[in-house]
Amino acid sequence: MPAPPPAPHPASPPASLPAPLPDQRQPPEQNGAGPGAATPLMTQYLAIKETCPDCLLFYRMGDFYELFFDDAVKAAAALDVALTKRGKHLGLDIAMCGVPVHSHEAYLAKLIRRGFRVAVCEQVEDPAEARKRGAKAVLRREIVRVVTAGTITEETLLDSRRNNYLAAVVERGGRVGLAWIDVSTGAFFTRASPAAALASALAELEPAELLVPDDMLGRLDAIDPGNEWRQRITPQPAGRFDAANARRRLEQAFAVASLEGFGSFSGVEVTAAGALLDYVELTQRARLPHLHPPRPVGEDGVMEIDAHTRRNLELSRTLKGERQGSLLDAIDRTVSAAGARLLASRLASPLTDIAAINDRLDLLQVFADAEPVRSNLRGVLRACPDIERALSRLAIGRGGPRDLAAVGGGLALAARLKDALAKPGLIGTPRALSACLADLGEHGALVKRLEAALAADPPVQARSGDFIARGFAADLDALRALRDDSRRLLAELQARYAAETGVSALKVRFNNVLGYFLEVPARQAEKLLQPADGGFIHRQTMAGAVRFSTVELGELAARIAGAADEALALELRLLDELVQAVLAESTAIARTAAAIAALDVAAALAELAAEAGHVRPVIDDGTGFCIRAGRHPVVEAALAAADGKAFVANDCDLDEGRRLWLVTGPNMAGKSTFLRQNALIAILGQMGSYVPAEAARFGVVDRLFSRVGAADDLARGQSTFMVEMVETAAILNLAGPRSLVILDEIGRGTATYDGLSIAWAVLEHLHEVNRCRALFATHYHELTALAARLDDLACYSMRIKEWEGDVVFLHEVAAGAADRSYGIHVARLAGLPAAVIARAEDVLTSLEKGESSSVVTRLAADLPLFAAAARQPAAAAPAPPPVVQELAQVEPDGLSPREALDLLYRLKAML
Ligand code: ADP
Ligand code: MG
Repeated sequence: MPAPPPAPHPASPPASLPAPLPDQRQPPEQNGAGPGAATPLMTQYLAIKETCPDCLLFYRMGDFYELFFDDAVKAAAALDVALTKRGKHLGLDIAMCGVPVHSHEAYLAKLIRRGFRVAVCEQVEDPAEARKRGAKAVLRREIVRVVTAGTITEETLLDSRRNNYLAAVVERGGRVGLAWIDVSTGAFFTRASPAAALASALAELEPAELLVPDDMLGRLDAIDPGNEWRQRITPQPAGRFDAANARRRLEQAFAVASLEGFGSFSGVEVTAAGALLDYVELTQRARLPHLHPPRPVGEDGVMEIDAHTRRNLELSRTLKGERQGSLLDAIDRTVSAAGARLLASRLASPLTDIAAINDRLDLLQVFADAEPVRSNLRGVLRACPDIERALSRLAIGRGGPRDLAAVGGGLALAARLKDALAKPGLIGTPRALSACLADLGEHGALVKRLEAALAADPPVQARSGDFIARGFAADLDALRALRDDSRRLLAELQARYAAETGVSALKVRFNNVLGYFLEVPARQAEKLLQPADGGFIHRQTMAGAVRFSTVELGELAARIAGAADEALALELRLLDELVQAVLAESTAIARTAAAIAALDVAAALAELAAEAGHVRPVIDDGTGFCIRAGRHPVVEAALAAADGKAFVANDCDLDEGRRLWLVTGPNMAGKSTFLRQNALIAILGQMGSYVPAEAARFGVVDRLFSRVGAADDLARGQSTFMVEMVETAAILNLAGPRSLVILDEIGRGTATYDGLSIAWAVLEHLHEVNRCRALFATHYHELTALAARLDDLACYSMRIKEWEGDVVFLHEVAAGAADRSYGIHVARLAGLPAAVIARAEDVLTSLEKGESSSVVTRLAADLPLFAAAARQPAAAAPAPPPVVQELAQVEPDGLSPREALDLLYRLKAML
């Protein structure tokens, strides 16, 4: 009984269907030039490479993407693959490495993560066509796509729970325009702001790639000194940032006569958006993804939170850069990828519009109040595919059958959600819920069509075939029957020949050169050659085997290939029709996807509220900040997880007469935790979440600042006193009456009196000039003396118990000032030798009796220091201006070009 030919498998050619193209790792197109001259292939390669000098070129050759020259050296190192050689160019070896096409995505991902850009160059014609131009003709190839960090769409390259933004920035007359797209979901936004606000806008977005006009590169450091997205910049010719052109492009792309229908854009926004669109077209080679129309995000729509504050509050990442331990990680109960992305983006930009915040809270409350509805909804959502990203891949022609299935499955689920939520009388219907229900839409016909058309578990790639369900298209079923039947016939043929010739080892085999052939062991070849008219045509003699063909086998092979090809072609046509049907409804589908994400977020936050005991905050337009029994969600969870210890809840009440709280207490008493928890409560409330407290009412916070004294901020590596002061300067310059400021041990990064003086002056400035709400933690208990002079300053301290010479931290915030810092107690707790402790106590006693305390007492009596502003000019007159002082210290020969540039900026800033 002869074995039937093995089942088709891409890696084992015997019955692979359709016949694969010949492997072209060493194709005939390679040679034909003497030493010194470039081969035709290399000539083509070099011409293409010249068009994308800043990219690694993935040059398609058969089943591989090959890289040459420097590209190969860089990629081989980055990917840890073998670097080989391939022929010579101008007498020198050509370095080469390659990655297989079928598994190239993993390699691509690695290169993109390493910061490379990759141009993908495909063969755009059939080898047969090329041969018509001559035996040595080189296949036509074109770059079909440039892959960059900001333009990836592949599931494998993306983090499904985060947006991947491509952003563009432009500056005109002190205003910056920012536009950003998530190419993988189509979300497209713009924003205009003063140049000074760029840093916080970028910190909010965390773009994967940032387009900057080349003439702006030099100024970036001045606009955002600490910028961290420097490595993500892709410079663009300044000419691409042109307002009039940009407007035209956008109007064309969205087929509108005017952009005004999408909102009102300022010139810089349009310019940035146009440049962005340009770049997307350029990298996608004119295949525009499905983009939502751009939406201007008003400057005043969101709470401004700068990069330092975000980092310091560990909103989406801890100081170490990990998601685990961040606020986002602690509050994320979403069950779908789109929901997770939406939650992250809401956390990144809390709102300032009270009505909009309440809309979100209303929706949340529906699910908070009705547990059964919530768990039912979450059960359905859990199965939700990523519609947004599937839709986007389909729109740029990079989608496959599985993406169609995702869209179909997601839309079917939307209908179920609607049923579950629309039950009359089950729950109240706030405006936000009706909006979601409307957005879920009605896609019954499309869902039916997709369900009928697609096979269960379709493959990712269309070219794998067999993704159209049986019974959907009669002609396809017929072709498939023929194809599968032929395969059976092939097995029968093998059996028949084996019987006829008596060679039981006779096999039907396949390779790229001969196609299908018969193979028998050399010893038995005679039996097939014997009857001259037996029909066996000799093809090849190998070491141990001889190969034959027959007319019948040839015909059968042709039928197999023909039927398989035709079936696949038909499937691809059907696929295309389905894709077009989906894209025709893409706007409505995108709305549905957004509604699903919004429901997921609302239900997830409701789940969190129930689990962790959060309450609905009341947000008004006053300037109070009143939290009863507030908690720090992350520390609370960490304590519970570690040793089941309870978190001590604390009140916070800032308002007229007590706008600034000065919180004193020793190290480890819980000051930082208390400060941060209130900032987090403001953020959570304004993103539309319940908050960890028994009750919360506060006036909208328009800007949030949080700073930590240098010594606490080690994780940043670059933490210096200078950084601390730069950050403090920003607060004093920007905070207003609606801001909330958290200052944690400011001044600690320098000598005691320096630090105390700075903290002192900062506190006065916040009180007199900024007039913002603030929590100010310090171990300088001397500062409490200020309370007597500053009306809105209230003193609080962390309660501790002294017990047999030790301190016990109660973590309770109580009215009143700490009388001392207890640093020595903490030192004892930490295990400093007894002798050192005793000596420190001596020193402290004498210091407290001596000059220092009288200085402090005198200073306290010397207020208000704002009179000091008037004194300043007289005092400063004899000293040379700061610029001159700074210049006097410069050692020109000791400066690197970079330092010189920095210096120049610094000097300029001093003028
Ligand atoms: P400080 O800033 O005063 O030095 P931290 O805020 O850093 O103190 O708190 C030190 C530690 O005390 C925290 O890591 C936490 O484990 C614990 N802690 C702080 N606040 C509380 C609280 N309210 N309830 C329980 N434990 C707390
Ligand atoms: Mg602290």
